Amino acid sequence: MFDAVHVLIVEDDIAIAAPLEKGLRREGFVVSLVGTGAEALAARGHDLVLLDLGLPDMDGFEVCRQLRNTSAVPIIVVTARGEEVDRVIGLELGADDYLVKPFGFRELVARIRAVTRRAGATTAAGGEGAVTTVADLLVDRRARRVAVAGEEIELTRKEFDLLAFLAEDPGATRTRRQILESVWDAHWYGPTKTIDVHVASLRRKLDRPDLIDTVRGVGYRLCTDR
Ligand code: CA
Repeated sequence: MFDAVHVLIVEDDIAIAAPLEKGLRREGFVVSLVGTGAEALAARGHDLVLLDLGLPDMDGFEVCRQLRNTSAVPIIVVTARGEEVDRVIGLELGADDYLVKPFGFRELVARIRAVTRRAGATTAAGGEGAVTTVADLLVDRRARRVAVAGEEIELTRKEFDLLAFLAEDPGATRTRRQILESVWDAHWYGPTKTIDVHVASLRRKLDRPDLIDTVRGVGYRLCTDR
């Protein structure tokens, strides 16, 4: 068989956390449970974080941001705040997916499986053709590194995945649907505005606004004719 996936549950409400912990164990996951942001940041050894945004000691978005700064472990955000803006911000901070309370247990398990599968696929990708250069941009999919004019650029997980997807075939237009399916999830139902938010922050961080072309009404492509 394969190694059990170790899930870290970050949730202060024991009435929610206890049945989750029990249910996930029954599904074959290894589960740790913490109730504060500080404990979440100190935790080690897990393969995925299930992060409640309403924590007693810290803002959940801040916990998400700090987790992402120190590791590439997939994060599923659990929120009681359903507004679209919160969702977009959560994903821009580097979360891989989100669930709005109340959510079904089966849905949670499906999301965990999808996110860990994608994370594994990303790690396994690479080898020949893993490095793409366009003008002075270098994208190394195997090492997950990006440099512009020899200077390394720090990107969030999703920003990198999006850039790497475009860099697989420079010059080719990727439709919004293709981008959502490859970088997010085939069953993504959130706002497609998320793509534009990530493209905008990529353009800003790379400091090459014309490197990613907007193909109006279709999608985006990496510009090769410059
Ligand atoms: Ca809470």
